[in-house]
Amino acid sequence: MYSYYNDNTIIYLDGEFRKASATTTDLYGQSLHYGYAVFEGIRAYKTANGEVKIFKAKEHYDRLRRSCELIHIPFKWTNEELIEATYKMLEMNNMEEAYIRPLVYCPPNMTLKAASDSHILICAWEWGAYLGEKLLKVMTSSFERPNPKAFKIESKSAGLYVNSILASQEAKEKGYDEGLLLDQQGFVAEGPGANVFFEKDGKVFTPPTGSILPGITRATVIELCHELNIPLEEKLFTIDELKQADAAWFCGTAAEVIGLDSLDGQSFGKPWADSLGKVLQQAYKARVLEKAFERTPQLA
Ligand code: PMP
Repeated sequence: MYSYYNDNTIIYLDGEFRKASATTTDLYGQSLHYGYAVFEGIRAYKTANGEVKIFKAKEHYDRLRRSCELIHIPFKWTNEELIEATYKMLEMNNMEEAYIRPLVYCPPNMTLKAASDSHILICAWEWGAYLGEKLLKVMTSSFERPNPKAFKIESKSAGLYVNSILASQEAKEKGYDEGLLLDQQGFVAEGPGANVFFEKDGKVFTPPTGSILPGITRATVIELCHELNIPLEEKLFTIDELKQADAAWFCGTAAEVIGLDSLDGQSFGKPWADSLGKVLQQAYKARVLEKAFERTPQLA
């Protein structure tokens, strides 16, 4: 089992820095019982000039606030104080490259009333590429993404992730690396913890917002397409259309940009090395490391 902390690990909790191993939580918490909590996943990188930089910190803390608002959890902090606390915590743990996990959770309450108070925890650990570096064998999940009319799906809420766990576990049980979930209409939505893109005839496609978590990495990949003059379209598409793609990839803070080897056992039209996905994977890495990126002629 991966160990997320040791005896020296420092976390940030409600304005204080504490030892993770000496911090407890209430067993009667509403978040623990009902999945009524909100979280973020952020990465810090050691950039080309040697500085530790949290990638898109403001965007992540804005989304944390918005996620809380959507499900009526009080959010009592400013971006500035949270960003400052996060840098301080990384420094106290001597962490340069880290995955950062803010969590807003609710005090003891066994009713189904909206929370009237909340806590914020920020912790971090050193984490390699979440889905690994190898191209992924993906299966169409038998689980759909939750119905946007049944849940605030744009809130990165803890309870929503049971759906992600089910889809991921199903894929692994069947010998795949990851699942791909459809929406209520049968269009491709996203992976359990990442957004999906594909390339066809020199153009890049990704599902529009509506049935997905609008990822911050997705937004970065879209920005990079614009900067690199790669045609990009947000549109609904089916699994059959995706299977005809030249290449496909997942993207997310934890996974970064990672290519798909195959979908339901069917490979894509181009070798990954020749795809626009590979160009965007390299451009993304350069962006987070604050390195210049130039599209070399041999790449797509
Ligand atoms: N979709 C889901 C369901 C996710 O959990 C994530 C990870 N947060 C993403 C997409 C990608 O979002 P981001 O790029 O903001 O990490």
